[in-house]
Amino acid sequence: MTTAHIFLQIEGEYHQKRFYAVLGYRLKTFMFSPPRPRSSVKKCLLNVSHGSVRGPDEPLVVDDIAYASENERNADPCTSRGCMWGKATDGLVYVPYVIANHYSERELSVIQRGLQSFSGFSCIRFVPRSNQRDYIYIQSLNGCYSYVGRLGNSQTVSLSRQGCIYHNTVQHELLHALGFNHEQTRSDRDNHIRVLLQNVISGMEHNFNKINTLNQGTPYDYNSVMQYHRYAFSKNNQPTMVPIPNSNVEIGKATQMSNNDILRLNRLYQC
Ligand SMILES: [Zn+2]
Repeated sequence: MTTAHIFLQIEGEYHQKRFYAVLGYRLKTFMFSPPRPRSSVKKCLLNVSHGSVRGPDEPLVVDDIAYASENERNADPCTSRGCMWGKATDGLVYVPYVIANHYSERELSVIQRGLQSFSGFSCIRFVPRSNQRDYIYIQSLNGCYSYVGRLGNSQTVSLSRQGCIYHNTVQHELLHALGFNHEQTRSDRDNHIRVLLQNVISGMEHNFNKINTLNQGTPYDYNSVMQYHRYAFSKNNQPTMVPIPNSNVEIGKATQMSNNDILRLNRLYQC
């Protein structure tokens, strides 16, 4: 095969902060707003062939969704085909990173906190890149997005200064880079959410395609940091996803990685 099929996860999230007073606490939540006109908000398949690999700033986004056949089987199937990050002899998984120099000190501290959080609950260690070949390059481009899994060489994780500098968003994008997909694309999601395509912005339906994910024996988790909000990509302020059987359960409001997010990360990487 001369062509590698690689996912680039571009978020619909252009996070708007909303503050709620709940039980006396002020909780930060986020919602999804319709895409800005110039922002390509798509879950896309990258078609990267040797000789036509774009630079890290300009991923070639091909608007087709030729992945995830139903009989293939929240880790992306690529994790069984080499897109995981390697484990060192000390049992730790070092993921080198470079952060662009255009962030403010406050923004940097949010990003650093997200990177460092993984060492508190897993064998993942994000480390400043020295001369490693494969690494993530965190920079503020147009939106929040990441490749799914290890791409090889430099791979962009875009954390826009406009709307992506939140702890949950940093963890979310890093989980993509580690090989995880959105909760609502899980292979078993139809048992847990009902997708209402009639409320989805035209052209955005592919964000709700199922993927034959490797769920690591962990349950579907409404509180996963990878679960989108119930109004994600809504064209009419009606929900695009409702939990079943109890449609009132809150979904997509995680402020940080859930226990299940941590468990499946540890299982995937055998921490
Ligand atoms: Zn995402």
